[in-house]
Amino acid sequence: MIRVSDITVYLKCPRMCYFLYKGHDLPKTVTPERILLKELALAYGSAYNKEDKLAILNAELDRISDEIRVIYPEELAGVDADKMAVSVSNVRSRLEEICLNLSSTGDFYGYRSVQFEPLLRSEKFGFAGSPDKLIQVGDAFFPSIIKTGNIPENGVWRSDRLQLTAYSVLAEEMYGTVVGRGFVEYANWGRVREVTIKRLERRQVLQILDKIKKIQSGSMPEKPDNAPCKNCGFNGMCDVRTTLASRFF
Ligand code: SF4
Repeated sequence: MIRVSDITVYLKCPRMCYFLYKGHDLPKTVTPERILLKELALAYGSAYNKEDKLAILNAELDRISDEIRVIYPEELAGVDADKMAVSVSNVRSRLEEICLNLSSTGDFYGYRSVQFEPLLRSEKFGFAGSPDKLIQVGDAFFPSIIKTGNIPENGVWRSDRLQLTAYSVLAEEMYGTVVGRGFVEYANWGRVREVTIKRLERRQVLQILDKIKKIQSGSMPEKPDNAPCKNCGFNGMCDVRTTLASRFF
């Protein structure tokens, strides 16, 4: 079963997908700061419409810094207390701007019916994944993903749009409804961007799934011209020619 996270990896570089399916692990690049931010974003709903947002989020960050190692034990195993303290302090320094922006998120955090990380599966297309949230309003469903990296000047990044589209296709099959929009929460800014789920990205998601199925069956994709090789953990094993590489795996 293909995972939605495989689509995200494919968008960075199809060959990364190939090496992952061959059983190689990518070094974990997620930082404690990003993990803290993601967890903190789950608490924005308790502050967005309150006068004392800053006090609420400061208290939430204190709580999260006590609990975070229980929630992410593997990801934080190599992070010592000093590094964690610096990360908490860096996140705390973002809170004022986050609070300013939360005021302009409208009703987003007011949605009452929310599933957190629900497992969605498509037997038809052979893929699965868990959006950070699946919001339900009446019979309508809207997936939402929390991102801790940079925010684009306008709209959302292409990979975020495709990820949301993939979750929308999954939610449609599971709930027998049409998903017309979703949301990207840029946690480091407290901003939420709405995305219309369009035909172009639906088509692209299905095309990428087909390409990933070919990779799963052993076909090594070409090296893309814009591949991020410099910072890639597979750099050492990727420089061989396709046919030669295939023989090694
Ligand atoms: S080294 Fe470059 S081409 Fe190979 S997997 Fe990494 S990013 Fe892709």
